[in-house]
Formats: sequence, structure tokens, C-alpha cells
Amino acid sequence: MTSHERPIGVAVLGLGNVGSQVVRIIQDSADDLAARIGAPLVLRGVGVRRVADDRGVPVDMLTDNIEELVSRDDVDIVVELMGPVEPARKAILSALEQRKSVVTANKALMAVSTGELAQAAEHAHVDLYFEASVAGAIPVIRPLTQSLAGDTVLRVAGIVNGTTNYILSEMDSTGADYESALADASALGYAEADPTADVEGYDAAAKAAILASIAFHTRVTADDVYREGITKVTPADFASARALGCTIKLLAICERLTSDEGQQRISARVYPALVPLDHPLATVNGAFNAVFVEAEAAGQLMFYGQGAGGAPTASAVMGDVVMAARNRVQGGRGPRESRYAKLPISPIGFIPTRYYVNMNVTDQPGVLSAVAAEFAKREVSIAVVRQEEMVDDDGQRCGARIVVVTHQATDAALSETVAALADLDVVQRINSVLRMEGATNE
Ligand code: NAP
Repeated sequence: MTSHERPIGVAVLGLGNVGSQVVRIIQDSADDLAARIGAPLVLRGVGVRRVADDRGVPVDMLTDNIEELVSRDDVDIVVELMGPVEPARKAILSALEQRKSVVTANKALMAVSTGELAQAAEHAHVDLYFEASVAGAIPVIRPLTQSLAGDTVLRVAGIVNGTTNYILSEMDSTGADYESALADASALGYAEADPTADVEGYDAAAKAAILASIAFHTRVTADDVYREGITKVTPADFASARALGCTIKLLAICERLTSDEGQQRISARVYPALVPLDHPLATVNGAFNAVFVEAEAAGQLMFYGQGAGGAPTASAVMGDVVMAARNRVQGGRGPRESRYAKLPISPIGFIPTRYYVNMNVTDQPGVLSAVAAEFAKREVSIAVVRQEEMVDDDGQRCGARIVVVTHQATDAALSETVAALADLDVVQRINSVLRMEGATNE
């Protein structure tokens, strides 16, 4: 240990799932951390709402005065683990203004205020790191920012929300419907009391914004991300998906699109999609996360692991803390926000995707050709059609179910087709519409 070095002081804001693990690692691994950093890493205080002597940290280390803790002269690095957007934003801005380096796991904040925070870090010449904000323990921000800095990232497709992945995996493996799989996830502590941010895709959209910003050197916020949740996915969709050799995953997709004229745009979107069973993302089950990256020179890369949980997330936080501390000891800074490319963000309507449409139709001749005609009118080519007879409770034929999978077409053409199908007399009901991603035959 290089004890002659001035210690690096750390303030941890938040002592919840992640904060308590970060505090534990700082205390338990003090010697190793000092050797890796080149100076001792010293915990100066922990910000909480409830100051009490039963919190596993000496009570004189705790404070509910965040501003005072952040402003201490002996604090060099502020680790924000309070969430949500406020009071985290105010505390981080204050820390940056006072030239403290900042580490945060706060995706909700990074997806809306990245510009403001990056600017404050730039102005103060300090580090702002947020590896843990996407996919918990999985290193993905640093590989995109540093390891792939000399390559051109084409696509990032991730399963970045453990709650929804658990629910969809349950539905797939047990045939459960959405409500009972959600109840299971809640009972096991995978879903919060209010699951909206997870099941409606807001959490994944925040992560998509962060990934797209870094991958494409363009500032992307959560509002730029097209978003659909998983609440409408049914057991019948899983049955159809399986018959087509697929499963269903909530994907966060960030993509670079090049027009025939060579103009580049980007897309960031979140929705449940059919994924072929032989795609690496199809095997990511339960609460695990994975991020699949395609880059021009590197080809395909897959990052897989625990996307949440106190200790896994603390691992990513501590990686950032060590980097920020080393920079303090050695002088200099890590990579800053890169947004030179300023690529336009494409609305969903222009995005080429494949659709899966599941509908109930009347049982009469000519139905299939009427349905196919609506696709043809909009130049949407059909890849697969499956038709099965439906019977009522008395075993009488009562119509048919048709499943259509298309080749790639623009999202606008596909949505127009679905709207036209819904208006056909022979179509009783559109049961569901999902996109298909990751198939080799586009
Ligand atoms: P948590 O368990 O709810 O803990 C939040 C902590 O922040 C608590 O200790 C709370 O104090 C403190 N806090 C909240 N508001 C405060 C305020 N106004 N003043 C002072 N202290 C305040 O949260 P978490 O699960 O550890 O998550 C922390 C952050 O990490 C969030 O941004 C989250 O999105 C992110 N993250 C979490 C995970 C995960 O698996 N949990 C994964 C990736 C990223 P009290 O204890 O006194 O109430």
C-alpha cells in the first residue's frame, strides 16, 4: 500500500440495496483497493434519509444532510446511489460544481439529464461515470466507450430489464399468463410494488437511451426512444412463437441505419419481439441480462450476467470508483461524453422491421387471399402463414386463427396493413401484433 499518498475521500449517497454493498466493499477490501488505486480509499460519510444506529454503519458516519456531505473538503468522489431523478440530480450537480468526481447507477437520471451533467463534469474537469446504470454488473458502458472506440458500432440489442425477462421466461416455460407470471415475480422480489417502470418498458427505454448515446456518439434521451411494454403478451403468442422456432423477449434496440444515399440515422426502441431460438439472446432467461453488440470490425460480441441486485451492481459501481480514484492520484480524466456525430434519430415509422400478426378470421373460402391482399397492397412481403381451425366449447368450428410473419418492411407500412386488416369483414379480431428481431432471413 502506498500510504504516503493523500487518501481519496469518498461520500456514498444512499445505503439501500446497492449503497450498503458499496460501503461493505470499501471497508472489507481497503488494502486491495489502496494497492490498485495507489492511495487509500477512505469512506467519509454516507447520506441517508433515516439516521439511526441499526444500519450496519457507525451512526457518526451517517447524515441526512446531503449537501453538507458532498461539500466536505475531504470528499473527492461522490457515489450517488439514492435514485430517482431528484434529489440525485441536485446532489450530483452540486458535487460536479465543487470539482468532485461522480459515480452513479441512476439510469432514470442519466437518460434525461445526461447533457446537463456531462457539461458540468466537462466544466469542472472531473470524471462522471455510470457503468452500473445499464445492466448491473455487466461491463457494457466501458467496452462501448473505450474498447470499441476505434470501431463503428452498428447495432446494440439487449435484454436489459431483469423483471420483464423473468416474467417472459416464466410465461414461456410454464404457459402462465402475464398476470400470474407478474405475481410470481413480485412474490420473489423481482418486481416492485408498482411494476409500471419495468413492465411498460420505461426502465429499458432509459437504458436504450444511454446505450445509443454512447454507441453512436450522439445525445439520445429517454424521450427519443420508441417504447412498448409486455403487458399485452399472451400465452397464445408464446405458443405461436414456439411453432415458429422463436421465443419472446423485451428488447432494447439501438441501431445505425444507412440510407441508399449513404445518409446515416439512428434508431432506439424498446418492445417485446419474437427472437429465433438459435439467437444468443433467446437463451438469456430469468432475471439475467445480456447485451449483444455488432460492430463493423469486431463483428458480434455478447455481454451476459446479472443485471441487478445489490452486490452485482456494487461491483460495477466500484469499478468506476477505482477508475475515478486512479485518475485523481495520477492526474487526468477518463473519457468524456462523445457526441460529435449528432446523428438524426429516426421515428419508428421509418424503421424496417418484421411483423408477426395473430388474428381470428371467419371460416369461409377466400379469407386467406383477402388477408394476403392487404399485405400486398402495401408491398409488405409475407414470409410465413399458419392457419389453424378454432372450435367453440361444444366442439363446433367457429372460425380460424391466422398467424402471418412478414419479411422486412417499414414500420409505417406494417402498421397501415394491420389497421386495414382490422377493418376487413372477414377479420373478427386482431389478437396481437409483435415484431420479430434477430432472424437471419430478413
Ligand atoms: P434503495 O434500496 O431504495 O436505496 C436508496 C437509498 O437512498 C436509501 O438508503 C435511502 O435512504 C437513500 N435516499 C433516498 N432518498 C434520499 C434522500 N432524499 N436523502 C438521503 N438519502 C436518500 O435503492 P437501490 O436499489 O440501492 O438503488 C439505488 C440506485 O441504483 C438507483 O438509482 C437504482 O436505479 C440504481 N440501480 C439499482 C440496481 C438494483 O439492483 N437495486 C441496479 C442497477 C441500478 P434510507 O435508507 O434512509 O431510506
